[in-house]
Amino acid sequence: MIRSQPDILVIGGGIAGASAAAELARTHRVVVLEAEAAPGYHSTGRSAAVFSETYGNRAVRALTRASRDFFHQPPTQFSPYPLLKRRSWLHVASEAQAFALEGFLAMEDVALRVSRIGQAEVLALSPLLKPETAAAGGAYERDAADIDVDAVHQGYLRLLRHRGGTVLTDAQVTSLARRGGKWLLESTAGAFQAAVVINAAGAWADAVAALAGIEPMRIQACRRTAVLVELAGEPISDAWPLTIDIEEAYYFKPDAGLLLISPADETPVEPCDVQPEELDVAIAIDRVEKATRASIGRVRRKWAGLRSFAPDRSPVIGFDEAAPGFFWLAGQGGYGIQTAPAAAALTAALVRDDARPPELASFDPSEVSPARFTGSQRPATDRRS
Ligand SMILES: Cc1cc2nc3c(=O)[nH]c(=O)nc-3n(C[C@H](O)[C@H](O)[C@H](O)COP(=O)(O)OP(=O)(O)OC[C@H]3O[C@@H](n4cnc5c(N)ncnc54)[C@H](O)[C@@H]3O)c2cc1C
Repeated sequence: MIRSQPDILVIGGGIAGASAAAELARTHRVVVLEAEAAPGYHSTGRSAAVFSETYGNRAVRALTRASRDFFHQPPTQFSPYPLLKRRSWLHVASEAQAFALEGFLAMEDVALRVSRIGQAEVLALSPLLKPETAAAGGAYERDAADIDVDAVHQGYLRLLRHRGGTVLTDAQVTSLARRGGKWLLESTAGAFQAAVVINAAGAWADAVAALAGIEPMRIQACRRTAVLVELAGEPISDAWPLTIDIEEAYYFKPDAGLLLISPADETPVEPCDVQPEELDVAIAIDRVEKATRASIGRVRRKWAGLRSFAPDRSPVIGFDEAAPGFFWLAGQGGYGIQTAPAAAALTAALVRDDARPPELASFDPSEVSPARFTGSQRPATDRRS
């Protein structure tokens, strides 16, 4: 028996599924199916919660820029809390990394958003650094921010319900088939039917496509580790920026009186409830201690989460050319929170076959379309450009 027949079924209730569902619920009947008991259990609940318009490749940076206004001015009653809190970013380069810093600053949209600063200024802004870590200076992005991820995620879920949408938890999708021009979907919460299915299953996006016999996008889940630590004998100032190695070998930022550190690891793994490895925690501590004069004290909390990438590291947003009504919203990598508002707006425009909203007017959807992976066009890995 079919439990319900909305217009659109969204698989996955993380930030991607929640935001797209909320946008679409303005015009369609939407049901979100989430396998876990809590929609933020996987990547969405495990991020470092940052917003930077200079992070990620070109498509990611463009989607991040297009998301900025939403974070600053969300719909009325979206959240009782501000979604962003200013946290500058500081990309730092040693003598040996001078070339990498030049390459970073050569990207036009990045150059517009950062100031190039010398070693003395870097050390004044991020006083834990050793002078040699910043010998070639750095790039300072003043208007980056911390994101209140829970406020954003809960805000979208509330907006979805307010617009008549439904979120079902403990609802793992187990089969997916096209019948009579619609998708018939079976889940642990019953069977559903809809003309459109949105695949927002994060690390499991290819596995969901496989349920329907759809070709994968070769999305690779990668483990990333974060650790909250005390510093031995050193107060931690909330005014410090997020400090990141220009080649992303580590980053650290203040977090409620502690220091959040990461070895910026990117270990390919099978999709799972990923846990931190002791070795990655030790590498994080070692790299931050080598780059700074800090002595890391007690580890207060550690976690790992999955960042899932398509081969060219751009998100995959659009209808599958070979499967009518099957929409991909996946491959957000390490940027799925900061790009969510624009990715959701783009999803809604493509599903409705509407014009793109003004913030996406200059964005070329072919940069993120699943069609870029059809035929022999398999782009090479592209980390930042
Ligand atoms: C350590 C770390 C730091 C990060 N820092 C940042 C950051 O600072 N800024 C930023 O923007 N991004 C950051 N990210 C990336 C960000 O967390 C992700 O890009 C984002 O959360 C992806 O959201 P999602 O909704 O696609 O995935 P998820 O949150 O994983 O949601 C996918 C959901 O699909 C569900 N699902 C899967 N299969 C099924 C099925 N068959 N049936 C039903 N449901 C299913 C899963 O249970 C899951 O809840 C970070 C990630 C990590 C790990």
